[in-house]
Amino acid sequence: MDQNPLLQTFDYPPFSKIENSHFKPAFEESLKEARTEINTIVDNTETPTFSNTIEALEFSGQKLSRISSIFFNLNSAETNTELQKLAQEISPLLSEFSNDLLLNADLFKKIKSVFKDKSSQNYTEEQSMLLEKIYKNFTRNGANLNTDDQKRLREIDMELSRTSLNFGENVLAETNNFELLVKDKSELDGIPDDIKESAKALAEEKQKEGYILTLDFPTFIPVMKFSKNRELREKLLLGFGSKGFKDNEYNNEENVLKIVKLRLERANLLGYKSHADFVLQERMAKTVDTVQTFLDNILDKAMPSAEKELEELKAFALEIDGIKDLRKWDKAYYTEKLKQKKFDLDEEILKPYFKLDRVIEGMFKVASKLYHLTFKQVNDLDTYHEDVITYKVYNEENKYLATLYADFHPRAGKRDGAWMTTYKDQYKFNKKEERPQVSIVCNFTKPTKTKPSLLTFNEVTTLFHEFGHALHAMNANTTYPSLSGASVYWDFVELPSQLMENWCYESEALKLFARHYQTNEILPKKYIEKIKESSNFMEGLQTTRQVSFGKLDLSWHALESMNSIESVKNTENSAFKNIELLPDIESTCMSTAFGHIFQGGYSSGYYSYKWAEVLDADAFEYFKEEGIFNDEVAKKFKENILQLGGTIEPMALYKQFRGKKPNPDALLKRAGLIKS
Ligand SMILES: [Zn+2]
Repeated sequence: MDQNPLLQTFDYPPFSKIENSHFKPAFEESLKEARTEINTIVDNTETPTFSNTIEALEFSGQKLSRISSIFFNLNSAETNTELQKLAQEISPLLSEFSNDLLLNADLFKKIKSVFKDKSSQNYTEEQSMLLEKIYKNFTRNGANLNTDDQKRLREIDMELSRTSLNFGENVLAETNNFELLVKDKSELDGIPDDIKESAKALAEEKQKEGYILTLDFPTFIPVMKFSKNRELREKLLLGFGSKGFKDNEYNNEENVLKIVKLRLERANLLGYKSHADFVLQERMAKTVDTVQTFLDNILDKAMPSAEKELEELKAFALEIDGIKDLRKWDKAYYTEKLKQKKFDLDEEILKPYFKLDRVIEGMFKVASKLYHLTFKQVNDLDTYHEDVITYKVYNEENKYLATLYADFHPRAGKRDGAWMTTYKDQYKFNKKEERPQVSIVCNFTKPTKTKPSLLTFNEVTTLFHEFGHALHAMNANTTYPSLSGASVYWDFVELPSQLMENWCYESEALKLFARHYQTNEILPKKYIEKIKESSNFMEGLQTTRQVSFGKLDLSWHALESMNSIESVKNTENSAFKNIELLPDIESTCMSTAFGHIFQGGYSSGYYSYKWAEVLDADAFEYFKEEGIFNDEVAKKFKENILQLGGTIEPMALYKQFRGKKPNPDALLKRAGLIKS
């Protein structure tokens, strides 16, 4: 096995030497090594201490985590069927490992004894945080329960994962089973040509005459936005909104109630009043009350705008099409039409000002003005694809800070979207400092022979967003890898990323890079104004909608008993009461297809979207007050937020940076919902 590059010592991932066949043996070997390291901790006969237990555990399995990061990053950015098959084999091995770890009673005994003893020790804040994190990781999985309760907890977890899986399968089946056959092309008026083409191709594939519309997002969204055919929009929306709510085998009502009940039981077993109480303990928000008050406050202030916007939309629909009863299936259509009328902002006009190379340069300039970083492209690092560009990053003292991999263009084998990830986290071990290796992966249009890669404005903000995550990881300056960089609470992690997006709306920043790729002309001010204004278009309705989803999430997960539940639809209607301004459609239900909270990991966390926006708006307001490139503010942000990762409670970090708690009014002002 000594030929396996993954099992050799390396600093940078040896991508070009890695073959798929190397992964399985590398995982097996490094899992064995990690288990041995844990056994050594358990078998140690000395009194458990922070160093021989907590620190030893934190630094165990290092080889395993490096191999995992390479494997899973490749499986997202450059996968193939073989790698996907391997993932199916490897994932169970990893869950088995982590289950065994969390159920290791002897290990937990040692952790607990260190934890109990903490008040008599003089730990640094970071050490206390690590101790707490590791202790909670065990107790939140039942380590403190008696054997019977532990057994029940495992049953609940199994049942929950089965039910969530079934919930997701039902939604998928409902999506896949739906097709709307349209015979006549004239019924598709207004819909973009490429959507019509794929609808036609799909019909041909199914040997049917005409066009087939589906509920997939790439079809559903443009149809709702652009189809002039009101009946068609209605049919498609009813299809979309009734997923998991029809009287058939895919109905999810029982699954919803079952998931909610099991989560409540699990929380109760662990000593919490509700599932939300359990989840929020590990979030910046901390309590259900904080989240409720937070959502209600935003709702109160956004509601008047939402009502006004809806009146405007109704008047517009009446004026141009004689629509007297605006319904849910009309909203996206008239919103889009009104937006076009008001702003006439064509993406194609903006794109020539956003040549990818230049935007990257501009983004680096912004980082250099704020944090005095320099980026040097290097060509001698091993990469997994020729499209990947590598940079070495240096700090203000010209000291090596991090390595940045950037992978910008789509290809087969790369999943959709954009993300930041790491190949190595920053940490200090045995007095040696390890600097991070960070990667951003996007799906921006590739250059052609005649045209460079030109970004839409949305892609520009996406790039700044991911770069903000990368700055969090690159500037990290902590001791322990699990508290380093972006390893922070869920409702805090989007602050550095969303903050960076703000510079894309400022002419002082845009003039650094937004120049026409042919004429070199700076992006005209009138476009900048339009970008800003249109980004706030219908903000009241959008805000209240987001808040309503957050409230729906809590109305399921902050429950302290199931007694008040009459039916899924009923609970949902009370959550949306006085927020949803358009008439309810009886045959639709959101909860039965709300994958975020019943399938993915967003339960009790939907509020985080708005929460993170408040943080970034409030943080950027500070920059605006002092100047968007103000050295002092940037230094505070770097030293308190970017460098300290998860070593201190986020609210404390934020206050150290800002001098006060975040104020939601900053978001409402930026969105134009209250006057500044
Ligand atoms: Zn993000």
